[in-house]
Amino acid sequence: MQTYRQSRRLRDVRYDVRGPILTEAMRLEAEGHDVLRLNLGNMRPFGLDARPELMDAVARSLEDGQAYSDSRGIPAAREAIADYYRRCGVRGVSPADVFCGNGVSELITLVLQAMVDPGDEILVPAPDYPTWTGAVNLTGGVPVHYLADEANGWNPSLEDIESRITPRTTALVMINPNNPTGAVYSEETVRGMAAIARRHGLVLLSDEIYEKLVFGDAAHHHAALAAGDDVLCLTFGGLSKAYRVCGYRAGWVVATGPLGRAADLLEGLTLLSNMRVCPGVPGQYAIPVALAEDSPWGPDVVDPDGRIERQLALTAERLNAIPGVSCVAPRGALYCFPRIDREMYGIDDDEAFVLDLLRSEHVLVTHGTGFNWPDPDHFRIVCLPEADVLERAVGAIARHLESRRLA
Ligand code: PLP
Repeated sequence: MQTYRQSRRLRDVRYDVRGPILTEAMRLEAEGHDVLRLNLGNMRPFGLDARPELMDAVARSLEDGQAYSDSRGIPAAREAIADYYRRCGVRGVSPADVFCGNGVSELITLVLQAMVDPGDEILVPAPDYPTWTGAVNLTGGVPVHYLADEANGWNPSLEDIESRITPRTTALVMINPNNPTGAVYSEETVRGMAAIARRHGLVLLSDEIYEKLVFGDAAHHHAALAAGDDVLCLTFGGLSKAYRVCGYRAGWVVATGPLGRAADLLEGLTLLSNMRVCPGVPGQYAIPVALAEDSPWGPDVVDPDGRIERQLALTAERLNAIPGVSCVAPRGALYCFPRIDREMYGIDDDEAFVLDLLRSEHVLVTHGTGFNWPDPDHFRIVCLPEADVLERAVGAIARHLESRRLA
């Protein structure tokens, strides 16, 4: 019998955050088990709701939003985005340089399709948000992973980045604040990465979806500011996390730098935007309300009562109390990415480990190799539930580890 096969281009494309572990979790749920899902940075299921002004804007859009919009997004959204970056100090951003999309996810794929030829090498962090590696593979390009340094608060190693550059390298991906590590890069790191892009003529692709999720004394530094006028920088942002509307699919990418020299690339991106027709229209109506200068959010957009910051700190502290587990305290985003002593707990395959944990304790986390981390010795836990739930989850992880302890 004939079988129907997926394309060969998908051979190296993975997105394990929603992979076989999630299928197993759903099977357990169908059997009647309560699974604590700590695999997705999705705000609403954990009681983190958007402000009503934002929902009202979308509700009011339902009449006008029936029509297709401009393929790059409604003018009001693109103007608000350009204005926002200008207020952040990025000079000369115009709505013409803004492309809206169905979340950053779609734009990552669109941008890479627009600029990568087979064999081009794209520098991607390890660990990464796996859409980046997957989307590079989809183009036939080669993801070349540079190491984030766990011993240095997960800041990327500039020496390691530079050592991996070849004549085929065309772009450098930065994810800051970082998923999955929770790192917020120092200004020195951001400037160092921009300088590498400048020296080697690379496009800087900066995923800043978590830019407003920074805690304590951490501060976010826009790559576009460090890139200046002479490095082409594509900055990705959106409402999913900061404004708690993952489901509205409201994201954007903004081009800055020597745009005259980028006309061909941007024409390609416009072509792909046109082919995609337009992003979902109602969600775009939330953008001008969220980004307005007199936005009802004020400075505390994401975490007005400090809940997320406390949950991140608590999770890291409890993880660090488990023998053989160490966790760099996150300074941003929504996640902890702890290391486990593999010898102590007999872990050769981290996906098998998270499956065992799921089956024994009904806690769903994601294995580190799912984020292109090279060794099977990390996992990612989402820190969105309230403190008592997180304490129970970490307690369950400790119990599971104890049950398999060898040394
Ligand atoms: N980039 C990073 C680093 C993410 O963690 C996520 C989602 O978790 C995305 C992009 C996708 O966000 P969006 O909802 O805008 O597609």
